[in-house]
Amino acid sequence: MNKIAITSIILLSLLFLLALGVAVYIQYTLYEKIEEKDAEISELESELSNAQHDNMEMAERLRDKEEEVQDFYEQISELTGDVGLLMKLEETDEELLKKYSRVYFLNEHYTPPSLKLIDHDFVYRENEVEEIHGEVKPFLEDMLFSAEDDGIDMRVISAYRSFDEQSTLKSHYTVTYGAGANQFSADQGYSEHQLGTAVDFTTRELGENFTTFANTKAYEWMLENAHRFGFILSYPEGNEYYIFEPWHWRFVGVELATNLYEKDTHFYDMPQREIDEYLVKIFD
Ligand SMILES: [Zn+2]
Repeated sequence: MNKIAITSIILLSLLFLLALGVAVYIQYTLYEKIEEKDAEISELESELSNAQHDNMEMAERLRDKEEEVQDFYEQISELTGDVGLLMKLEETDEELLKKYSRVYFLNEHYTPPSLKLIDHDFVYRENEVEEIHGEVKPFLEDMLFSAEDDGIDMRVISAYRSFDEQSTLKSHYTVTYGAGANQFSADQGYSEHQLGTAVDFTTRELGENFTTFANTKAYEWMLENAHRFGFILSYPEGNEYYIFEPWHWRFVGVELATNLYEKDTHFYDMPQREIDEYLVKIFD
């Protein structure tokens, strides 16, 4: 072999070795890179799973917070409800549901917070106006319209009376009837008229002779229907407190009136503390 051939073989061998080395190197490096990337991937995967876990925890915590806020709102609304109820009670005169007697009268300075005229079509006396507690007016007029729809003739002969008007009325009765006036128009009934929530009824036929109201269809109708409009008969037949006044009806609210009607009992027979529970709902 000549020198050139030997050199060529050596060179080729060297080249081969070099190529081999480069190949091994490249493979090794790639392998390392792959391993690195694998490690990164698994790291990312674990981070992702941590993040997902955190996310779930966050979502749960968020739900808990939302529930807390919800509870809080409920408490607030309950509290405002109570406050609303208290304010309503604060605005409602407790006198409206008091039982009046010969020894317990309404204060002479009491006047209803608002008074309204009763629709004149329902007032018996042509030349007089009659007033009623502003909150009671719609109940009274609904009742009168309803009676009219049922073909019942019923008119208001007396409603709100101020303390002074009542004193005049009483002295008039005293003059006319003497000592008997106390029985005819005692202070009990006075107080209820001074409240602006009591109404004396008559019919066109009876007119001024309203003391015989018990013999009318209107009275029968009232016994069956007045409670639906919040009215009660203050002094029913045979009551222990006062003479029978079939014409005299007092507004006590639909719930209390209905309750008394259903239990077939009377306002003046119910304990005051039980009556007082209805005060907040009197105009509902
Ligand atoms: Zn009366």
